[in-house]
Amino acid sequence: MGPQLFTVRTIDLQTGLERYYQRFYINVDREKFDRWLLSMVPGSVDRRLGAVFKSLERTGQGFKITLLQDEKRLEEQARAVIGADGAFSMVRRIAFPGLPLPKKYIAVQEWFKSERVLPYLTDFYCWTIPKEGCLIVGAALALDNQVAHRFELLKERLRHYGFKLGSCVKREGSFLLRPEKLYHINPGSDGVGLLGEAAGWISPSSAEGISYALRSAMLCSRSLEEGTEGFAGRYSRYTGQMRRNIFIKNLKSPFMYSPALRKMVMRSGLLSMDVQPPHSLL
Ligand SMILES: Cc1cc2nc3c(=O)[nH]c(=O)nc-3n(C[C@H](O)[C@H](O)[C@H](O)COP(=O)(O)OP(=O)(O)OC[C@H]3O[C@@H](n4cnc5c(N)ncnc54)[C@H](O)[C@@H]3O)c2cc1C
Repeated sequence: MGPQLFTVRTIDLQTGLERYYQRFYINVDREKFDRWLLSMVPGSVDRRLGAVFKSLERTGQGFKITLLQDEKRLEEQARAVIGADGAFSMVRRIAFPGLPLPKKYIAVQEWFKSERVLPYLTDFYCWTIPKEGCLIVGAALALDNQVAHRFELLKERLRHYGFKLGSCVKREGSFLLRPEKLYHINPGSDGVGLLGEAAGWISPSSAEGISYALRSAMLCSRSLEEGTEGFAGRYSRYTGQMRRNIFIKNLKSPFMYSPALRKMVMRSGLLSMDVQPPHSLL
């Protein structure tokens, strides 16, 4: 989707400091992207589109899985189970009860009709993304009873910054995880593998998860090439580089989310460009 984005305009709403950071993102229509991924599943694979995973039981040979489709219960036998069911993964909760989960946020997004969209994007806690004739305003907010109020406050602050938010055409909400500790990540074990956000693979500093989801799927697939026996252990070992990446992002987080450190970094101009002039582009 247009426009493609090469610069992140970062606004520290507390201090008013602004900088541009060079980044290379691909702006996509998420639904079409997901349909395209699905279209690559080989025809020989049985698909149960629209079925909801309900339960998992260990049996002597592997697993019995129960799905619900059009109010009908379906049962499947499996030697291995892969949970790729997102931030609220039921596979993770059933297969690994009691193991720690990453900190949970609620992500709220509203789409505004916008005649003049600007190619800037900010991320984590709040972001704006231009998509064709719309501007998306989103925020990852702590789970409490102030979600709607704080989202309104964000829009008010953005309007104050000159963002012209037209009529709201779509509103979305979803859970979002933030793995602050490495033990929040659980790639699975004993015949159950977890991919993407189900495992906790998502950047704790920018809330970007698609590249982690794709990479974890690739590594899990590699572990299955050697057979289902012991695949979860192999997959877990192959993810060493991803764990290190998340560890480094957690080290970086205080410089983005502690107001004093953020101010220091933005003032220093490190890896960034000045915003010149501040509001003439809005
Ligand atoms: C508002 C918002 C904006 C984001 N923006 C970005 C971004 O710009 N860039 C980026 O990289 N990341 C972004 N992320 C994060 C990114 O979307 C996720 O990290 C990524 O989609 C995780 O992929 P996944 O396959 O693990 O899970 P998901 O994409 O969440 O897919 C899980 C799938 O499992 C299905 N499912 C769930 N439960 C069941 C069940 N019981 N039975 C059957 N099916 C089930 C769901 O319907 C869904 O299709 C954003 C997240 C949010 C919430």
